Amino acid sequence: MYKISEGVYTLQGLRVGRVYLIEGADGLTLIDASVEGAEGAIERELAQRSYTLKAIRRILITHAHPDHIGALAALAQASGATVYAHALEAPIIRGEQPPKYAPDYKDSPLNRRFSAWLGIRGMPPSRVDRLIAEGDLLPEVLPDLQVIEAPGHAYGQVAFYSPERKLLFCGDAMVRLTGRLGLPLAPFTPDMAEAKRSIKKLAQLDVERLCFGHGVPMTRNANARLRAFAAKL
Ligand SMILES: [Zn+2]
Ligand SMILES: [Zn+2]
Repeated sequence: MYKISEGVYTLQGLRVGRVYLIEGADGLTLIDASVEGAEGAIERELAQRSYTLKAIRRILITHAHPDHIGALAALAQASGATVYAHALEAPIIRGEQPPKYAPDYKDSPLNRRFSAWLGIRGMPPSRVDRLIAEGDLLPEVLPDLQVIEAPGHAYGQVAFYSPERKLLFCGDAMVRLTGRLGLPLAPFTPDMAEAKRSIKKLAQLDVERLCFGHGVPMTRNANARLRAFAAKL
């Protein structure tokens, strides 16, 4: 793992679905839980800072796709952590509803092979302990961390923002697969117009460090790049 901001790290060694670690005054928080089976790699990364899975106090979920909640059930069980998610994502995390993709997305053998090639597997149902929504403050994670709804790629997707650190965790509201900012992948995005509105909303924040679900975190000049990207949509 490497440091993004004081006490904030991104884990490495995961094939898909980036995970962040926050060391707060009240213990450890993970943001997102990568793919099914990733718990071993996550455990090895935490060991670099001498933590075990049991040290995780909270797991914040940006949205209920299999590359973000695949290992959630295993991590929640091993740690006893409190799981936070938006009310629209919670039934998907609990296994009561399937995730919603684009209207023309087909659960075909070809698409399943594509997902498998990406390293994406299943999403074993997990408990959700706390529902979060726009404007909620999570001082137990970081003193000024806010929940910002960023729907479109998933109806209940949320971002997490620290104004003081100018630090934004955007989930899959946008991605950085080629070094540049890009829209979320269309087949997995049920409402692209809404997704674009969410990017414009996030671009109004003061952001120096921008942390994605996919791609290398942007640690310099994120404001200008995010605003230029949003202006083109
Ligand atoms: Zn996603
Ligand atoms: Zn994703």
